[in-house]
Amino acid sequence: MPFGPGLVIRRQLLCPVCGTLLADAAYRRLPPNLTLRAADGTIMQPTSAAVLLAQLQPGARSEDPRARYVEQNLGELVYELRCVAGHQVLRTMPEIVRRIRTARGHGTTV
Ligand SMILES: [Zn+2]
Repeated sequence: MPFGPGLVIRRQLLCPVCGTLLADAAYRRLPPNLTLRAADGTIMQPTSAAVLLAQLQPGARSEDPRARYVEQNLGELVYELRCVAGHQVLRTMPEIVRRIRTARGHGTTV
């Protein structure tokens, strides 16, 4: 759905496993800005994929789907999202922006 520059769209990002809230997102196209706010109100900061990969256990990398995901997205900024049920979801900034831009309702599963 097209929207004008300068307009801020807000969406609730929902857990793909259980559908509960992961973060409140605010996205502006021009100038580009994405802000994710956790349920407790804190602003969430993305981590570079390279840094994230270095944090994962080297021995477990081959079986860890998170490591595979991060390896496929080196060069991107990645958000580590967690719902109240403890599901951990990794999503790159461009993926989140795409979900926000294509969402039709107030909430969107990431
Ligand atoms: Zn969940």
